[in-house]
Amino acid sequence: MTVKTRFAPSPTGFLHVGGARTALYSWLFAKHMDGEFVLRIEDTDLERSTQEAIDAILEGMEWLGLDWDEGPYYQTKRFDRYNQLIDQLLAEDKAYKCYCPKLLLEELREEQMAAGLKPRYDAKHPKVVAANAAATEDSPFVIRFRNPKEGTVVFDDKVRGHIEIANSELDDLIIRRTDGSPTYNFCVVVDDWDMGITQVVRGEDHINNTPRQINIYDALGAPVPEFAHCAMILGDDGTKLSKRHGAVSVMQYRDEGYLPQALLNYLVRLGWSHGDQEIFSMEEMIKLFSLGSISKSPSAFNTDKLLWLNNHYIKTAEPEYVAKYLQWHLDQKGIDTANGPAITDVIKLVGERCNTLIELAEQSRYFYQDFSEFEAGAAKKHLRPVAKDALALALAKVEALAEWTTENLHKVIAETCEELEVGMGKVGMPLRVAVTGQGQSPSVDAVMMMVGKERVIARINMALAFIAEREANA
Ligand code: GLU
Repeated sequence: MTVKTRFAPSPTGFLHVGGARTALYSWLFAKHMDGEFVLRIEDTDLERSTQEAIDAILEGMEWLGLDWDEGPYYQTKRFDRYNQLIDQLLAEDKAYKCYCPKLLLEELREEQMAAGLKPRYDAKHPKVVAANAAATEDSPFVIRFRNPKEGTVVFDDKVRGHIEIANSELDDLIIRRTDGSPTYNFCVVVDDWDMGITQVVRGEDHINNTPRQINIYDALGAPVPEFAHCAMILGDDGTKLSKRHGAVSVMQYRDEGYLPQALLNYLVRLGWSHGDQEIFSMEEMIKLFSLGSISKSPSAFNTDKLLWLNNHYIKTAEPEYVAKYLQWHLDQKGIDTANGPAITDVIKLVGERCNTLIELAEQSRYFYQDFSEFEAGAAKKHLRPVAKDALALALAKVEALAEWTTENLHKVIAETCEELEVGMGKVGMPLRVAVTGQGQSPSVDAVMMMVGKERVIARINMALAFIAEREANA
């Protein structure tokens, strides 16, 4: 049987880190088994679902590269199918109309809680029986699933292991509301059945729904899929991950300069392991992933580790891959790369020093944009009168260069040092500040090479003018 998994978000907000991890695990398992992955938008909650959230989820999935083989399906387009099956259950007496008013239910609920009982629907309560008996043809009603009264529901969760729940613990669930809309627990079963889902991977917050859903599968005569419930993600302080901990939306990670590959690698390890391996290419993740190795205990989010992975991928991923995502940040900052070196060359030169694409975009700026001021601290320290001779001699040599190569620029610096009988720093640092505007950069000959002759000459002249002005004001 072909393995088929799904990701089934409710579109009530952006795609958050927890959802993305669930999606990744589902996706990986499908790929690992050579199966298929379905995207389904669970939008039956008409009040809380928005088109904006749907778009945000799709954008997040696309940015992560978690592509789907089928869908996106929308539950709101499948109401006829749910109603058809609800009618079937009604006809088979596996579901029934309940006229019990909301107010009465609330009253009974409070009574049960006051008595220290678990609140649940009690069809045999005299007041409920009376309310149902008093109902007329046009009284509003919900439809409840007739949960079995005897026996237990048993399943082997791929993560949590053997689970057993007595039916006596479960009440008769509403499957259609008064307004005619079917409810989550019913729709999810019909969808997973109709879509041929073989493994349901989802968050632990749904584990209490699973026995109820299994009873609905049985009532419909549908095969029950396997389940894998993933533990929670905690913030670094041990409480459930939330906005308080910083970014939780996947797209915010894009905005903060992470590569999707780094986030995916981070998420795969957040609750799944393969020995103590930390770095996984997509191919490796697919090859090694198994539901059985998902952790039972919650995992804590660690931003430092994510940054470390991001730096790793900025350094080691194909420059073309990094360039694709860097370009977005360059555009955000209005850095036009038309006049200047290839972005991939800048990545190769500057990338390893950067933890995020935002830093990398900032460090790319001087290759493409002229500046009108030097960084104050660096200028104060390195653009001093004593640097004048070094800059002037280097400038003369740069202007005379016939061939613009890193080797020749290296020679320019070495010869300047030799002729002035000064150390490397006395020439290299003023040149670095002159050419980049700042005190830190990769090797200055390589930087000059990529900044280009015209810009290098103009910037050294600007540094000399800066020194002259400083002298005049002294
Ligand atoms: N729509 C549910 C949610 O977003 C997930 C349901 C499921 O995976 O079964 O929490």
